[in-house]
Amino acid sequence: MIKSINPATLELIGEVEETPIEKINEIFENSKKAQKIWAKVPLKQRARRIAEVNKIISNQFNEISLLISEEVGKPPSEAFVNEVYSVMDSTFHYYSTVQEFLGKTKEIPLKFYESLKKKSILLRKPLGVVCVIGPYNYPFTIPFQQIVQSLMAGNSVIFKPSSETVLVGKKIQEIFDQIDIPKNLVQTVFGSGSKLGNPLIDNAQKILFTGSTATGKRIMQRAARTLTEVNLELGGKSAMIVFPDADLDRAVKAARWGVFTNSGQVCSSVKRLYLHSSIYDNFLNNLVELTRKLKQDIPTKPNVDVGAMINEEQLGFVDEMVKKGIEEGAKVLIGGKRNPNLKGYFYEPTILTATNNMKVVQEEIFGPVLVVLKFDEEKEVIEMVNNNQYGLTSSIWTNNISLGKKIAEQLDTGSVMINEVVYTFALPSTPWGGIKNSGIGRSHGKLGFYEVTRPLHINIDQYDEPDLWWFPYDKNFDEIVKNFKTIASSLVLKDSEE
Ligand code: NDP
Repeated sequence: MIKSINPATLELIGEVEETPIEKINEIFENSKKAQKIWAKVPLKQRARRIAEVNKIISNQFNEISLLISEEVGKPPSEAFVNEVYSVMDSTFHYYSTVQEFLGKTKEIPLKFYESLKKKSILLRKPLGVVCVIGPYNYPFTIPFQQIVQSLMAGNSVIFKPSSETVLVGKKIQEIFDQIDIPKNLVQTVFGSGSKLGNPLIDNAQKILFTGSTATGKRIMQRAARTLTEVNLELGGKSAMIVFPDADLDRAVKAARWGVFTNSGQVCSSVKRLYLHSSIYDNFLNNLVELTRKLKQDIPTKPNVDVGAMINEEQLGFVDEMVKKGIEEGAKVLIGGKRNPNLKGYFYEPTILTATNNMKVVQEEIFGPVLVVLKFDEEKEVIEMVNNNQYGLTSSIWTNNISLGKKIAEQLDTGSVMINEVVYTFALPSTPWGGIKNSGIGRSHGKLGFYEVTRPLHINIDQYDEPDLWWFPYDKNFDEIVKNFKTIASSLVLKDSEE
């Protein structure tokens, strides 16, 4: 059995049965059968039937929010807004747009070849069995959205939740069990990634993985054996840059939320804060004072802002990184240790000042820890922000939107927010994903649907003569080659052409 522990109270809150590795083949066989039936259902009907999950969820707002809260350690209100609402909003959005992205047959212009009565059309087909491997930090919204997009596109899904959040995983399965879809179209497997990972990767058509960079790389390596496609949503070290002309009052509140929401266990949390030297002292003082006001406690108590971290190991990792930072010369302005007043896995909201080459600035610290740095010039801050192995999101604060856009174009991240932090994961219509060690591929919106489908190109020929390039290569063919050479010469750009 896999036990689920509330990380704030350390109480046992439930358990689920581990999926025996010997059952994986049977699970795939059942998944393939279900997918074949499902792919024949017209797209519009598929989307309608999947969107029924919103009805099931709407009857359990409090129950689901509380379950997420108890299993992950975040306040139930935060779980509702950032996970439950986000699932319903995205499901509705995918239902409303899937026809536009996957339902239309597109004709591709063929130019010269059209004169030979040839035509090409493009469709999008499901991949088959998609395997969703989820992280613990947003155990409801991250895998749920990937499952919804995969199913609407005509795939079946095998879902492996994190072993830390098996009860939320079980809840997701229960929701899909209540809608009108073929048996075994969605199956959840429980167990550690080190045991179940390889057979899942070996048998699936695609892995939609969200988690750490180290695991993502391991998955990609294994996937090379079978050429299983991968979509990797990995770690981050998002930067927030604040210019003196920004709305500083709003910026300081954004920084506080962007760093400490979900105890900093957010791939796109603000992890590095770059302040212009002219506002550095004031901004930092205000941020420390606001941070002091955060209420950290058992998250089901009223008005708690910051809850617990997921487990002892993650907390220990964060604490070790902070200690290493101090050894390297980072200064603790607030926090910097485990909360001694609470018995669960609580790490105090922590702010450090640091310099760009320190480990605390370069590596992901998946917890409530912010590093703060100073800059004078645009060029300097762009270089510091880009000098990092991760590239998920970044944030620029200025009232000069054209300056913001100019800098945004120079930052090496998948998304850049101007005068905002973190929240764009909640926009189901916009692409989500990173570059460098933050991952490969995109989820959400049109690109998310493209990730779980393959293009099928159909070429139709209604020419009633043999093609010009077919045998025999005789005298007549020499004439044809000459004509091709004339056409080819016309394809060279003239110097005057831009
Ligand atoms: P992990 O990489 O530890 O685990 C993620 C999932 O992968 C879990 O379900 C885990 O299973 C599974 N897993 C572990 N080993 C393997 C393997 N060899 N093969 C297949 N699956 C495996 O990540 P965390 O759960 O700790 O999540 C935190 C990380 O996720 C952070 O780095 C964060 O930045 C990143 N993240 C990225 C997001 C993005 O959109 N870019 C969003 C959210 C988080 P088990 O734990 O049960 O063994």
